[in-house]
Formats: sequence, C-alpha cells, structure tokens
Amino acid sequence: MAFDTIFLNARFDSGACHHIAVKDGRIAALMPADAAATGAKTIDLDNALVVPGFVEGHIHLDTSFYGDAWRPHKPCTDGFNVHERVAFQAQNMAEAAPMEVRARNQLDLCIGHGATQMRSHVMVDGSVGLKSLETILRVREEYRDLIDIQLVAFPQSGILASPGTPQLLDQAISLGANLVGGLDPASFDRDVEKHLDAVFGVASKHGVDVDIHLHDMGTLGAFEIEQIAARTRALGMEGHVAISHAYGLGDISIDHLKTIADILARSGVAIMTNAPGARPFPPILVLRNAGVTVFSGNDNIRDSWWPYGDGDMLRRATTLGYRSGFNTDEELRVAFDVITVSGAKALRLEGYGLRVGAKADFVTLRAEHVPEAVVAAPQGRAVYKAGMLVALNGMMVGKKR
Ligand SMILES: [Zn+2]
Repeated sequence: MAFDTIFLNARFDSGACHHIAVKDGRIAALMPADAAATGAKTIDLDNALVVPGFVEGHIHLDTSFYGDAWRPHKPCTDGFNVHERVAFQAQNMAEAAPMEVRARNQLDLCIGHGATQMRSHVMVDGSVGLKSLETILRVREEYRDLIDIQLVAFPQSGILASPGTPQLLDQAISLGANLVGGLDPASFDRDVEKHLDAVFGVASKHGVDVDIHLHDMGTLGAFEIEQIAARTRALGMEGHVAISHAYGLGDISIDHLKTIADILARSGVAIMTNAPGARPFPPILVLRNAGVTVFSGNDNIRDSWWPYGDGDMLRRATTLGYRSGFNTDEELRVAFDVITVSGAKALRLEGYGLRVGAKADFVTLRAEHVPEAVVAAPQGRAVYKAGMLVALNGMMVGKKR
C-alpha cells in the first residue's frame, strides 16, 4: 500500500516504538521501529511519546471571554445560584466581542493543547433563540479539518421557565445540533418529569443523544439521576445519555453512591466531571469500578461562571488526579483514560485511538510515559489531525480562515 505519510519513531505509553503509516487521514499500519519505511513523506517524531488526541467532552464555545477583555468575576449575592449566574452572563455577553471571534479564540486554545474531538454546549433558549447556535455552526464548519465538534442544544434558562424553549430545542436539532441538553430539572424548572419529557421527547423524535447539566446536590441530585436513568432504560437509550457535573454524587453516603453507580452502569449513562475547585464532585474510581463511563471537559473558560480555564485537557487530567488523590501510576493512567478513551466512549466517537483503522489524530508529548505526562502536563506538543500537523507549541499552523 502506498502511504501518504509515515511518522517515524513514535513511542507509545507501553514503551514500544512504532512507525505510524497514514493513508487518507487514518492509521493504515503500525510498523516496528526497525522496519524500513517508504512513503510519499516521512516525519521523524524522534522518540516522542505519542498519545491519542484529547477528548474535550464539555465546553461552552458561545460564552467564553478568552482573548477578549478581562471580565472580573462577580460573586453571587448568597452562595452559588444558577439563576443569578445566568443573569450575570447575559449582562457580560451583551458587552463582549462577537461570538465567532471568541469561539475561534477558544478553539485555537483547545486545539493548541491537543484536543482533536470536542463536545460543546450552546445556549438555546427564549432569550437568544437559535442565534448562538447558528454562529457556532458556522465556526464549526470553518474548523472541520482541525477538530471534530458535537454540539448540544443547551437550555441555559431552563425549559419550562423559558417559554418557547421546547420548540427551540426541536428546531436546534433540525438546524444541526447533535444532542439535546437539559439543566437542573428540579431546582431550575421545579418539575423533574415535565423537564425530562421535553428533553427525551426531542431526543427520541430525532434519534439524538442527551447530555444534561445537573448541579443539584445531595439526595435531590441523586433522585434526578435515578429519573434520568429510568428514562434512558425505558427508551432503550443505554450508551446515549450523559449527565454533566452530577455534583450530588460527591455529596451522598458511600452506600447510596454505590446504589446509584450500579443504576448508572445498568442504564449506560455516562458522567462528565471537571473536578472544579471547592465543590464535591463524582468519585471517579467508585463509578468506574461499577462500570460507569466517566469523561471530562474544561467546561467554562474565562466566562461569567469563573475566571479559570486554559483549554488544556492534559492539565484537566492533572486536576482530576490531584483532586481524586491519585498517586500510583495506575491511578494516573485512569486520569488520562478519562480525557481520552473514556471520553471517546461517552461521545461515541468513531475511529478513535492509536490503532490501525482509527483516525490519525494524535499528540506528541515530552514525557517518559503517561503517568509523567499527567503530573507534568508538558508543553512543546505537536498536534496532528487526520495525519496533518494542526498545532505546534500551542500555536495553530496552516489554519484556513
Ligand atoms: Zn457546562
């Protein structure tokens, strides 16, 4: 077979060294490092650690101010309050740079750090209608050769609380959103069943997946998780539903947690956690040991919710490991799995991984192996999408505009 490119001397986490032969954007062969390599083009990776492209599983391309003017964080008047944060966000967005400019800034940041796959929530509600989605769809098209993006129609202002939102979610899917989202069915809309009727109604009508934001704590959050899992099973949607944040899982007794973890595993509902500071978050190992898919994302980056975020999924793995008390190599590899293989599973990505037949999406790292990469999050990365160099040392290369 004539290959398009052969990447020489790629060191895998196992320690094995390979040549990666790429044809039509996919890995066509993995050859031993002592094999003779002939192809149209060769690129010597010089024994760098090669890992699959990172899966940014939860981000908001429409609301970041990264690359725009610094916006000082405004605290809620009385603890964390989703309603109040949404109101602050509306004020900030009205004064911000155009959305497409901010979305591009954020994409460049994420790709520069090694994300080759992404799921972004985009606000769809009575206040913005489908405008944000239309903008992000255009930006997604611009970036189609650089990163694969799934978009979630996200009812940031609730579904029942924001008139017209069920219809807008339906239209959003017709327009090009890939999934339908939800937001705190109990605390925001104050009617779990009606909220889930709308979400799962749109999902089953269009045959799309579901990813619901759930900030509710303790037994209330756990109850909502049970209701979402029940809907998932009733509709035969196992493997097609995710719950983002699920903070409540970090806020209930271990026995209760194990019960919910079994329900999640049985229902094929994945959990997204970004392990944000100073909040309880889902215990990763307990969930994984029960068979639950746990994935991650950077979520908010310099937006109205918090000033943090750098778009680096490898640093997110550091945070996941640090906050989970992961120390052994095995545990550090779990943190890495969450941002790679498990992310791909939750997003149901086709052709993911360093194997023959998969998309040639990979990142080179200056690290001995994955555990060291997770603790060091080294810079000096090269990011390849479909076998093409798209970013080097954090900077985009050859980008179409
Ligand atoms: Zn979010």
